Amino acid sequence: MKIDHLGIAVNSIDIARGFYETLGLRIEREETIEHEQVRTAMIPVGESRIELLEPTTENSAVGRFLNKRGEGLHHVALHVDDIAETLEALKSNGVRLVSEKIQVGAGGHLYFFVHPSSAGGMLLEICQDREQIQD
Ligand code: ZN
Repeated sequence: MKIDHLGIAVNSIDIARGFYETLGLRIEREETIEHEQVRTAMIPVGESRIELLEPTTENSAVGRFLNKRGEGLHHVALHVDDIAETLEALKSNGVRLVSEKIQVGAGGHLYFFVHPSSAGGMLLEICQDREQIQD
């Protein structure tokens, strides 16, 4: 297991990227995730990444987060080897999830979110690369 990425809510990726570029980091991929109503930009940092999240509408989850709390850390994402097994283990232990469905996100990775009330007050994403799925 490793920390896959840190999700950071920003008002504008175009403005936020300047700071990371000053640090010598580069955006690797930008993508709009329609079902989350969010634009994302992935910035590799060693074996982990920073994921900038810019809402495409005010009513999206990230849009509401920005209205309430302003820019900042939105979620931490843990990478697991078997996301289906992790989902089952959490469910059978009564962990509260944001959604019980595994979804497809930026770069085609699979993910679901654990509710902050079950994860020490922090929104936790569990994810896995799609190419790891054996079918
Ligand atoms: Zn994420």
